[in-house]
Amino acid sequence: MKTIPYLVTYKDIRRIILKIDNKNRIIVSCPIYTSDKMLNDFLYANVDQILQMKERKQNGTKYNPTEGKVSLFGKEINVQIINTTGNEKFKVYNETLMLHLRSKANFEKVIKRFYKAEAKEYISQRIEELSKQTGLNYKSLDIKWFESKWGHCDSLNNIVISAKLMTQPKEVIDYVLIHELSHTIHHNHSEQFWNLVALHCPNYKDYKKLLKEL
Ligand SMILES: [Zn+2]
Repeated sequence: MKTIPYLVTYKDIRRIILKIDNKNRIIVSCPIYTSDKMLNDFLYANVDQILQMKERKQNGTKYNPTEGKVSLFGKEINVQIINTTGNEKFKVYNETLMLHLRSKANFEKVIKRFYKAEAKEYISQRIEELSKQTGLNYKSLDIKWFESKWGHCDSLNNIVISAKLMTQPKEVIDYVLIHELSHTIHHNHSEQFWNLVALHCPNYKDYKKLLKEL
């Protein structure tokens, strides 16, 4: 049998709350009156959710679209395929991605178009906010599809981000954007570069490790 360690804190709250902290520890916050039995019952009832939360935090999200599910911002969303003889298109409706496909063979192609559209909307706005917050200025932003890297910044400070990054949680996306923005000052991976990244993204090591493991 496998045991899962966790930390319990008692607080002035009304129900038990589960959280995974940045060190990937399970934190259980309980109302002050919670008995051991209530706590155990709760943990047993939620063991699947706990393991899922922990795994998500540990592994990030692999880009692994299937016909049933794709991930967006680190969460899985359902995919529904609708056969069409018309234009191939996509639409997100009630947490479900509707894909209108002429042939299932086009699944991957249309999924990539979906991620690119999401990235164009989200990343362009987010990088602007982070640029203002950090005072790190870039020249242009482009969204492409890279299989083996998340982003790139050239010597003229043109930044390119892989739309695949949209599969990741928002804090991981922020790390990649801060990483590329920091390259506008240091066009290398020197100690000064990492110090600048750390200044704007104190948990960068966790995210860096997580992306490397995908
Ligand atoms: Zn870099």
